Amino acid sequence: MALYANGTFTTTKSSTELAFIGGILIATGSAIIPSTATGWLENPYNGGPKTAISIHGDVEGVREDDGIDEVALLVSFFTYLAFVGSVLPGKLVPGVALPDGTRLHYRCNGLLSLILLVALLGTGVWMEFVSPTVISDRGLELLSTTFIFSFLVTLVLYLAGCKSHAQSSSLKPHVTGNIIDDWWFGIQLNPHLMGIDLKFFFVRAGMMGWLLINLSVLAKCFQDPDLSRSMILYQLFCVLYILDYFFYEEYMTSTWDIIAERLGFMLVFGDLVWIPFTFSIQAWWLLGNKVELTKAAAIANCFVFIIGYLVFRGANKQKHDFKKNPKVLIWGRPPKVIGGKLLASGYWGIARHSNYLGDLLVALSFSLPCGISSPVPYFYPLYLLILLIWRERRDESRCAEKYREVWAEYCKLVPWRILPYIY
Ligand code: NDP
Repeated sequence: MALYANGTFTTTKSSTELAFIGGILIATGSAIIPSTATGWLENPYNGGPKTAISIHGDVEGVREDDGIDEVALLVSFFTYLAFVGSVLPGKLVPGVALPDGTRLHYRCNGLLSLILLVALLGTGVWMEFVSPTVISDRGLELLSTTFIFSFLVTLVLYLAGCKSHAQSSSLKPHVTGNIIDDWWFGIQLNPHLMGIDLKFFFVRAGMMGWLLINLSVLAKCFQDPDLSRSMILYQLFCVLYILDYFFYEEYMTSTWDIIAERLGFMLVFGDLVWIPFTFSIQAWWLLGNKVELTKAAAIANCFVFIIGYLVFRGANKQKHDFKKNPKVLIWGRPPKVIGGKLLASGYWGIARHSNYLGDLLVALSFSLPCGISSPVPYFYPLYLLILLIWRERRDESRCAEKYREVWAEYCKLVPWRILPYIY
């Protein structure tokens, strides 16, 4: 999909085909990789028998196979998010201007919602109302329930989108007539339900879900007194990354997914299934595999995380600040600007997508604690490498189309796409 200078959206055939093939690969991968990991782990997504009281109070070790527990967990989670998202205070952030000149507004209270959720769950665990391993005991069931939910919800979105006569940019239906294409990419840009922006809601759910899975896997580790250095590092990096995400949640409002992708299966599945269940593969893997990480390796690992984080956050912040105020100081100096529109100093003067480089380093740092004995924990950085190279190409053609000679001048000044002197 491309957003042209006149502000209209259009889908180019090649990018659609690419996105479609990519999506199929992603969907297939998500089914294969976790189950491959599953085969390599002793207690993979299910993590063995139940260890304590579930929210239904089942008898220890007895598993109901009707899926009701997983459905109840998901419904409770979504209900909680919908409720606190609407009532908790948070900065009201205007989204980017849509082609019809309107803007959506996002209440950025994700951090508060997350802290409250963890506090409530912590209290529930302390009162023995809920088991800390309630998620890690039923990983595979939760994965399939969430997958089915994503499938069903996008069917509803598809049908509602087809029926809609809305004319606003955020809701205007975009129907190609190809059912699979329309269901996969979605019909509407920003559908909402009872005042909740679903796109923003699902990505929030995915990021929080990832943390909850990690914490639940960590709880399982506490049953083993020998908590490994690898697990501590992985958990620490992820907590920092996820907290950072919610701390800077408003930056999300200007990302590609929010401003340019319609809400279809690709995005819903990506948010609800892909993020929580594949980004946590390392944690599941570490449950069944011991890694002896030396002190030196651990320190080097921390460096990779810190450098990656500084580049990732620094680059995104510089662009965000520049968009708000084109005269903002970049690294203490007035910004170098091309054509009055593009930032060409700071991280954006080193490579045209140094934010992707930072994200890749962070992703690598999540996997390094697992050592190099298996490729399974490296699934996330490898996937991200492919995704971001592809994304950078799509963004590049979008910007070339939108900024024309200004973009060409920028490319001359900053020839590197992601990694200086290499790519
Ligand atoms: P970017 O934040 O890089 O945004 C690209 C847009 O920024 C361009 O389309 C253009 O938009 C604007 N832009 C590009 N260059 C310049 C410049 N020099 N000066 C000013 N504006 C510029 O892209 P994404 O939304 O793809 O990524 C956001 C973050 O999310 C990244 O850090 C990425 O790594 C991360 N991410 C993580 C994923 C994961 O699975 N972990 C998946 C995808 C992204 P405009 O038309 O507004 O000028």
